[in-house]
Amino acid sequence: MLTIQEIEVSYGEAQTLHGVSLQVGKGEIVSVLGANGAGKSTLMNTISGLNKVKKGRIIFEGQAIEHRSFHERVRQGIIQVPEGRKLFPDMTVFENLEVGAYHREARKNFRANLKKVLDIFPVLEERKNQRAGTLSGGEQQMLAIGRGLVGIPKMLMLDEPSLGLSPLLVKNVFQVVEEIHRVGITILLVEQNVKLALKISSRGYILSQGRIVMEGKSPDLLDNEEVKKAYLGELT
Ligand code: ATP
Repeated sequence: MLTIQEIEVSYGEAQTLHGVSLQVGKGEIVSVLGANGAGKSTLMNTISGLNKVKKGRIIFEGQAIEHRSFHERVRQGIIQVPEGRKLFPDMTVFENLEVGAYHREARKNFRANLKKVLDIFPVLEERKNQRAGTLSGGEQQMLAIGRGLVGIPKMLMLDEPSLGLSPLLVKNVFQVVEEIHRVGITILLVEQNVKLALKISSRGYILSQGRIVMEGKSPDLLDNEEVKKAYLGELT
């Protein structure tokens, strides 16, 4: 579904991604892991079109999209749930969900998709008239994911969905990601919770200082001594 070939991205003079390549197959959950500042969000923002590539290609469903706008990519089905959720705090839950359906196809199907989203997140139904800023952290994350889903993603990119959540809510979020995957949505997952991310994904990439330093099947990465030492806090 997605092939990234040797992309380079800079912020001004500072090059942040150095020849990053990766692939996401249709129907997969793929993890991108790495420490703070490794370039994970930069990679997400480059796939969604918020950042420009300096070099390299991004191919989605057979088409080169690296020069397409963010909006065109959303219409094609690449939807990002950004780090820190980026909700509109003064708007209600319902209004935030409406914002997610801003392109024509999504607007047309909003009612039906909303129902599906509320089936996955019943708590959002209960709180649909509440201001988003007054939701708990876990509820806000559900809303951010729900807002992504009403945009009709083919590939949903989740940037650190477990950030700032208690261990129980982290588990909930990962269950939700699996549920979304079961309904047929491809997922690219950026996480610092390496263990849980590798448990639910089929493959993973490890990014360090803007380079992919390791890639493989998730069970192999979970078993890898270097990964254990560097990212799972296990002494070998
Ligand atoms: P975290 O897990 O902390 O969110 P990350 O892996 O997502 O980290 P990025 O946010 O992609 O990392 O940042 C990678 C590098 O690029 C960092 O050194 C960061 O300071 C820098 N950077 C990110 N955004 C910008 C920006 N808009 N302008 C300048 N530098 C930036």
